[in-house]
Parts: sequence; structure tokens; C-alpha cells
Amino acid sequence: MTKRLGVLTSGGDAQGMNAAIRSAVRAALDRGAEVYGIYEGYQGMIQGGKYIRPVDWAASGGILHKGGTIFGTARSPEFRTRDGRRKAVRNLLLYGIDRLVIIGGDGSLTGANTLRQEWKSLCQELVDAGEIEQSLADAHPYLTVAGLVGSIDNDMYGTDMTIGADSALHRITDAIDAITSTAASHQRAFVVEVMGRNCGYLALMGALASGADWVLIPETPPNLDDWQEKMCAILSEGRKVGRRDSIVVVAEGAQDRHGNPITCDMVKAALESHLGEDARVTVLGHVQRGGSPSAYDRVLSTLVGVAAARIALDAGEGDESMLVGIHHNKITLSPLMECVNKTHELNDAVRGLDFAKAMELRGKNFQDSFRILRTLIRSMPHPPLPGKERIRFAILNASGPAPGMNAAVRVAVRLAVDKGHIPVGVFRGMRGLITNNLQEMEWMSVNGWAPTGGSELGTSRKVPSGGDFYAIARTLEEHKIDAILMVGGWAGYQSMLRLYQERANFPAFNIPIICVPATINNNLPGTEICIGSDTALNSIVEVVDKIKQSAVASNRCFIVEVMGRYCGYLALMSAIATGAERVYLHEEGVTLKDLEQDIAMLREGFEHGKRLGLMIRSENANPLYTTPFLAALFEEEGGSLFDVRISVLGHLQQGGDPTPYDRNLATRLAASAIDFMETYYQKGDRDESATAIGLQSGNIGFTPLYEIPRLMDDKAQRPKEQWWMELRPIARLLAQPGPGFNADRQ
Ligand code: ADP
Repeated sequence: MTKRLGVLTSGGDAQGMNAAIRSAVRAALDRGAEVYGIYEGYQGMIQGGKYIRPVDWAASGGILHKGGTIFGTARSPEFRTRDGRRKAVRNLLLYGIDRLVIIGGDGSLTGANTLRQEWKSLCQELVDAGEIEQSLADAHPYLTVAGLVGSIDNDMYGTDMTIGADSALHRITDAIDAITSTAASHQRAFVVEVMGRNCGYLALMGALASGADWVLIPETPPNLDDWQEKMCAILSEGRKVGRRDSIVVVAEGAQDRHGNPITCDMVKAALESHLGEDARVTVLGHVQRGGSPSAYDRVLSTLVGVAAARIALDAGEGDESMLVGIHHNKITLSPLMECVNKTHELNDAVRGLDFAKAMELRGKNFQDSFRILRTLIRSMPHPPLPGKERIRFAILNASGPAPGMNAAVRVAVRLAVDKGHIPVGVFRGMRGLITNNLQEMEWMSVNGWAPTGGSELGTSRKVPSGGDFYAIARTLEEHKIDAILMVGGWAGYQSMLRLYQERANFPAFNIPIICVPATINNNLPGTEICIGSDTALNSIVEVVDKIKQSAVASNRCFIVEVMGRYCGYLALMSAIATGAERVYLHEEGVTLKDLEQDIAMLREGFEHGKRLGLMIRSENANPLYTTPFLAALFEEEGGSLFDVRISVLGHLQQGGDPTPYDRNLATRLAASAIDFMETYYQKGDRDESATAIGLQSGNIGFTPLYEIPRLMDDKAQRPKEQWWMELRPIARLLAQPGPGFNADRQ
């Protein structure tokens, strides 16, 4: 019997729900199942009729870029009653649906689990009441449930990120950036309220990303009863040292130590009375839920959607409801109710004023972020402790610019200065070290750097050779440099490796040498993700969305060329996030046979009413089958069926303000780099003291530079192992025309 899957969204909407719908529907169709969309959440399930409709491949197309949910969502008090759920079961049985993918918050997921538990008894009641035949109940002895968490608050146990949280952070960071510029012009204070009743994730990460000056979250209220005075004292000190604005971020559920709410108006009143200046309140409200989903949310939703469909289809009688989430970049499955209960435990801790427990349950990243934020918002560093050794370290950018480089330098400089160390900025990358172009930095040197793209220090692709080493050693000795912190890409890594290899000849290089990965290409060893690649991905996705819109009026195939050098990360991820039907990677190569198949696919599609083709090509996918070559080939072979246009995205991919993800990654990595530098200060001549820092299985990891030649594919200048290569089948699966395919609705 063909399996029938119902897909619904419920509770609050969140950006990325549509991407999850698309992938769950298509993954199920690919498995030969029939799929029904259940409209307006549980209310639609109870009402049945036009609220439960079949969806095919085409109907789940053209929605990746849309915020909200095409199935609609609603709150349904009736579904909380057994009688309401009985009606829901009846409707599901009428359509033969006994498998569910549900996208919603903890309430919606709990509801689905209750339905699964009551399924048998509700079926029996329906039979006993004569509302359905016994044979129908017998044909569907159980219900299976796979849940995805759609919630902008990132407030659910069982997944590192919920669907919508990254997009909401984009909205918040954009808004605070905009407010900061007007606040600075007028030297004004602003209070910004962001969503999050029990969860301060959006407030904390939004404040950290935007360089705000104070944050109030429910999990860890200010220590003192006179928090207003402390806050205002720090803000007014900040003004004295040159800050032109004060931004306070308040979570919707902010409270004091006694559980009394802290509202924006209370903060405004405090600012006005203590600082004697105008304060304005901005409540971001539903803007945070709206708009197109970020690249991260599209990819996350796509991956969990595919997994959820498979789980719901494969589960059998007795299998409990599962929650599909992501942990350390990997899809995870957890018993759904365990996650719901843990989430409630956390909420209870927040509401029960058990702040230590609340912070513990939020996890290490949350705790570290809060600790770092508390240092960054200071108006001046702690004075150096008497007798404490002060490390003079050179800090530089190298390779091409990557959005987030400035955020990393800012955090490294501030955290180091706060510990009594002395950063020395190097201008224009390795060139600055060779030509002795350095300058000491202090706390305010990096003021306002968090949101800026490019590289304030300046960068270059220079890799030292020959006499350069002597010049660099002289510079390091003259400035009494005790450590080097390089934030950059492959040329920077090569440069640091060369310094390490020259240690025997130049004692000046026997110091900690630390590489922080920052390149849009995401082609560095020792890290799953580099600072800058998320921004580049979002830039690509935004442009491709526009290109797709421009093309629907005519029969056209676009070939979009993206950066990445020999690494296909940006190409593959942007293909998943935009629904491209083909992606060309250097890792896979391109053959004439592939191209023939692609032409056949395009011809077939356009013959059957397709209006848009989208192919994404990584810039060095193949030296001979270039983008113009592909365009000429497709144009010629397409005849009058379609025409072909090229779009080479170029340097817009390196520019732009960094996304919140990149800023916060920069913050984490830079903080760990400073810790490493302190640890290895006295043992700078050890092999391990020259290191690359990175994100490994979601945690901060260190890779000694001597390991790098072994880890890298030297010719292709990319790591030999690339975790994201596993995602290629999903890109292929979702682009493949299924039944009822209308290809302009990818
Ligand atoms: P969210 O899913 O975002 O947490 P709600 O808590 O409002 O949002 O839940 C959405 C819907 O899910 C509710 O309107 C109701 O229909 C259903 N629901 C929530 N909690 C339960 C429950 N304990 N039992 C049954 N249904 C529930």
C-alpha cells in the first residue's frame, strides 16, 4: 500500500518553514509516497475538506525564498481537547494519512505526540460510534510522527538551531546596525526590544553581533537591585571615552533577580534620569519573523525536512515520535517528548528564578557568549594586574578580504587589552611585517568595527620568501613581538606555515603563531567553517533570487558563476539554498557526458513548459569547460527552446557587512585565540605553539601548523576531507524532476 504522509505547520510562523515543506514533500515523493498538505495547522486537520490537499513536486516549488508558510498556520484551542483530536483522526483516516511531518514549536510538537499516543483509542471510538468502518481503522493501526522545530527564538532542546532563528538574527542585526548609525549622529541612547519570552538567545546574539552596549535577558538578570545605576555608570563612562551612542538590547522576557519584568520603558526612564539624555525605544516586533529566510535557514530546513520525511515514512508501530534537529553540523534524531520536557525544565528554571540552572541548560556557547559580551561592553579595560606578564602580539589580516575579519580583530584586541596585553596592528598583511608598518592598538582603536565588512587593518595576498624572512624577523625583534595572530585565508596560512618552518633559522619566529580562519571560500584546514563564508553565501542567494525573478518572463537558462577557487562549498550550498538544478564543482569535475545529459534535461524541461533553468558553476570547476563555453554550448543545443545568460557574481561576494553568524563565529574564534596565546606564551618554541584554530564538530579545535601539509590537497588548495561533500545527494534529489514537474518552480 502506498504510504501517505501529511505535512503541516503549526504555532508561530518562522522563516524557513517553506524550505522544510519543500524538502519534506519532495523527499517523500522521491520515496514513492503520496503527500498531503494540511492547511492552517491543527484547525485544518479538524476541519478537513479543502484543508487537506495533495501536493506534488511542482506545488512544493517556487517557495524556498518565501518567509512564512504556504500551508498557513493557526492556533487551535479545539485540538487541545480529545474531541477535537478525534475529529482530526477521522479526517486523516478519510485520506489514508497515518504519517506526519509537523513543523512547529514545543506546543505543536506535544500535540502531535498526543495524537500519536491516542491514535488507537480514538480510531476505536470512531468505529464504535459508527463514524468509520472497522476495516479503515485496521488499515491504519498506528500514526508515525517526525517533528521539526520552527521557532525564531531558538528555544528548543534537541537542536542547536531552530528553523527561523538565524533569519530573525539577520533582521535584528540589520535593525541595530541601522539604529546605531542614527543614534551615533545624535549621540542618543536607544532601547531595542527583541523577541524571546523565556529565551535570551536573540537578544544576546543580536547584541554580541552588533556591538551593543548592554543586554538584558531572562536567564541571567543583572546582579544588583540597583542595576539601573550600574548600567548607566558604564554607559556614561563609554561616552567619556568617545562612544557616540548607547544601545541597550532587551529581551521580551527580561526580568530582575526577583522575577519582576524589566520593560523597555523602565530602561528608557533609567537612561533619561541617570544620563540626562533623550532615550528612544524601538520594539522590533513581527519584523523579526518576516522576510526571506537566510541562507543558513534554507539549508538547515532543507536538510532536516528530508530527514523528517524519511523518518516518518520508515517508522513502524511502537516507534516513538522523533525530533529532527542539528547538532554540530550533523542531523540528529532525539525522542521528541524528551526534548519537550527538557525545554520545559529550562523554562521552569527561568520562571522559577533558578538562574544557575537556566544558564547551565543553555549550554557552553551561550555561557561563553555572555561572558565575552560582558567584557566587550566595558567602556575601558581592567587595569593590568601588577606583576602580570604583558604579551605584545602582532595582529594582522592576510589573503583576500572576508566579512567578519574586523569583528575578529576587534574581539581579539579588546579581550587581550582587558587582560593587560598589548596588541600591535600590522597594516596590509604580510607586507606590513616585511616593511615594518605596525602600530600599537588600544581599546578604542577598534570601536565600531563589529558590523563593518572588508579589512580595517588592510590585507594582501603576499606570501614571504627569500629575504622577506630576515625583514620580518627584524620587524618582530624591533617591536619586541611575543606572538602573532593572523586572521585570514590560505595565503595567510601559507605565510604562517613558512614562518614556522623557518624557526631554526630565525629565533624571532619561536613564538606562538595563531591562524584564525577567515575566507569566503571555506577552503582552510582544521575548521568546518571559515569566517566570511556565511556572508558570501547570503550575498549569492540574494542575487540568485533576483536573477530567478527576472527570468520567469522568458524561456531562459542562467549559468551563475560563484567564487570559491577550487573549493565547491559556496557553489553547492548556494545551489541547495536557491534550488538550482545543477551544480558544477571542481571536486567532481565536469565531463562532456555530464553536459550532454544536462542539455537533454534542459531540452526536455523546456519542451514541457519549463521557463527557467538555473545552473551554478564554481569558478574553477573545469579549466576548459568555462562558463562562456557552457553558455555557448547550451545556447546552441537549446535552439529555439530557450536562451542562455551568464551571471558572474564576482567581488560582491567578498563585500558586504558580515552576517550575524560570521560576526559571532569571529567572536568565538578570536576569544579562543587569545586564550591559546596566553597558554603558549612561555612555550613559544614548541611545535604545538604554531596552530590553526577552527570549528571542529561544533567545538573549538586546534590543528598544529605542521599537520597542515598532510591535511591539504596541495594542488587544489583545499582540505582533503570536506564534510559538506556528503550533502551533494540532497542537492541532486531536490532538483530532480518528479511527477507533475514544472521546472520554473524549482
Ligand atoms: P508553538 O507550537 O509555537 O509552541 P502553541 O503552543 O500555541 O505554539 O501551539 C500551537 C498549537 O498546537 C495549539 O494551538 C494547539 O492546537 C496545539 N497544542 C499545543 N499544546 C498542545 C497540547 N499540550 N496538547 C495538544 N495540542 C497542543
